[in-house]
Amino acid sequence: MSLFDGLLGPEGPEVGCDDCFADLDRYVELELAGQDPDAHLPGLRAHLAGCQACREEHASLRALLADEPG
Ligand SMILES: [Zn+2]
Repeated sequence: MSLFDGLLGPEGPEVGCDDCFADLDRYVELELAGQDPDAHLPGLRAHLAGCQACREEHASLRALLADEPG
């Protein structure tokens, strides 16, 4: 995914709100698919844990996608 794959420390990359929003739909898709989104999008979970705005966005996106047929 990036040059830094495999080089990241336990804290993962710093993810800002822009990055978070950009990847949030994919994150939710992976979640709903029963996969581990944190393995594909490292750092997002940490960002969501610390950012209420993105957490709310995640919740509404998740509700939206979960409601979609297929
Ligand atoms: Zn955020």
